[in-house]
Amino acid sequence: MKSCIAAVGVVLIAAWVLPYGLGGYSIHVIDIALIYALLALGMGLAMGVSGQINLAQVAFFGVGAYAVAILTTHNGYGFWAASVLAVLATVAAGLLVGIPALRMQSHYLGIVTLGLALGFINWITNADISGGADGISGVPVPRIPGVDLSSEYLYYYLEAVVFALGLVFGLFVVHTSLGRRLRAMRDDALAAGAMGAEIPLLRMTAFLLASLYGGVAGVLYAGLIRYVAPETFSTANMFILLAMVIIGGRRSLVGCVVGAIGLTLVREWLSDFSTYAQLGYGVVVVLMVVFAPTGLAGVPARLRALYERRRGRTSARAELRPFVPYDVTPQPPSSEPLLTVDTVVKDFRGLRALDEVSLTVDAGEIRGIVGPNGSGKTTLFNVISGFYRPTAGQVAFAGARTTTARPYTLSLAGMARTFQNLRLFGQMTVRENVLVALDRTRTHALWQYAVWQPGVVRRERRLRERARDILGRYGLADFADADPASLPYGIQRRIEIARAMAAQPRLLLLDEPAAGLNGEEVQQLIRIVRSIRDSGTTVLLIEHHMGLVMSLCEKVTVLSSGKVIAEGTPSEVVASPEVIEAYLGDSELSSRLGRGPGQPTDRAKEATS
Ligand code: ADP
Ligand code: MG
Repeated sequence: MKSCIAAVGVVLIAAWVLPYGLGGYSIHVIDIALIYALLALGMGLAMGVSGQINLAQVAFFGVGAYAVAILTTHNGYGFWAASVLAVLATVAAGLLVGIPALRMQSHYLGIVTLGLALGFINWITNADISGGADGISGVPVPRIPGVDLSSEYLYYYLEAVVFALGLVFGLFVVHTSLGRRLRAMRDDALAAGAMGAEIPLLRMTAFLLASLYGGVAGVLYAGLIRYVAPETFSTANMFILLAMVIIGGRRSLVGCVVGAIGLTLVREWLSDFSTYAQLGYGVVVVLMVVFAPTGLAGVPARLRALYERRRGRTSARAELRPFVPYDVTPQPPSSEPLLTVDTVVKDFRGLRALDEVSLTVDAGEIRGIVGPNGSGKTTLFNVISGFYRPTAGQVAFAGARTTTARPYTLSLAGMARTFQNLRLFGQMTVRENVLVALDRTRTHALWQYAVWQPGVVRRERRLRERARDILGRYGLADFADADPASLPYGIQRRIEIARAMAAQPRLLLLDEPAAGLNGEEVQQLIRIVRSIRDSGTTVLLIEHHMGLVMSLCEKVTVLSSGKVIAEGTPSEVVASPEVIEAYLGDSELSSRLGRGPGQPTDRAKEATS
């Protein structure tokens, strides 16, 4: 912490004295570098932090700069009034460009945003109001009483202040509630939705942030150069910007800044060889993507990992501790079922995965869902938790119709789930994984970021305390700062349950939680699930592991080829001829049932007694 404060102090002093040693042209280059740094911050927030490929950043830059130029020269606005309007116009453009992100992702989104940026460049090159290819000159010098901003030295200080604010705000966003959700969305949008993150709103937020930084950079550019022309906002510059972010490290805002300032300086230095330089940047970007995908910002961590591996140091002392049971909370009896699935059908292009499935689950149950592979169990969970819309039929949860509800709505209404193939947020620590689910603030409540940051900090502190409790309860305290992918499978499974329970659900859906666990881990899982139910959370459990179902569930629903073929206590179900028939084809399961088909169910009875 102390070294961190010292480092910030050194940077601030260096930034303060920097212009004293520089000539007029050098300070101009630094001024340009800071503008690119702001652009790169916006790019990093959208692409690196939120995973939204945004190739329109240079157009946001252009909207900001052109809006200032047009409003001051055509409409007679003062510089600052024009600036405010210009930033608003850029944010509006950002939200417009963000709309496609609601429907498409990855390279499709890249192509669409690039297309919109090209449209913008085309427009400014041809329109009268933007001065065509000649651009607009005569933008007035911004006025601050007592400061002559026509001096590029003094302009540097204005930029430095704006840039510092932008960097601090960006880091604040990344390391608190909003940024955590954006990163969760980047790592796994489906899982983030199931944890209550409002994905559409978050995607728009990513574009809002990108355009905000783009607009501010555009305003500063217009005030610095006082002339705007199309070539500044060309695709070649978009590529340079992309190179800055990738070389610096898109997931780290500091990396983006280093990339932007570094590449601006290199570009200036190579300005006599610009054709070859452009080729060079391309090669460097390709090398970076292949050999150092986390960019320069990721290099220290990679070196540290390498060093520790050399030294043979591992986190051997970290251990999974026993689960601490919840307090038992007796639930008042309720007359209504917690979950009702009513004749649900789900078709996938000719394949009927669910065929008129009906079931009701009462509050306080542990309900087992069993069935051979491919019988529709996971599909049923996906319908219940809002991932799939059923082709026909209805679902009701906690007294409300939820057939068409989105996963995040259901999460906020008290439903949580785990996934058959683990879906932890891979680029976040174990603690952050839990924090994403713990945080129940709605995205629209994040206006606090704009006007009342102490509120955000206070909430953050409360959340972190609760995360510590949850990690402690699930015996995961030693792994709080670990990267989940580096941990053994059994621990990852437990993290997923801890994460789901962090949302304090009324209904917990567990999809094959025992898959891949060893005998001791299964015993612990049984204790955990019982305690979860005793704490007042209803559990719906898909399981292949028959022993687990036998000892945990009061009631079991059996699916086969998308149909419910039996329902009852585990011993009733195992004795049912339909169930025995269905399992005939699944030798693995019949052996897990502990008998050949058609034989008596002694072992199953033993297991339940
Ligand atoms: P289970 O979890 O019981 O093993 P699933 O619910 O995963 O079974 O799958 C049921 C059937 O639906 C399978 O035949 C599977 O191939 C099909 N299925 C599941 N999801 C999809 C999907 N997204 N698209 C097409 N078919 C699917
Ligand atoms: Mg499944």
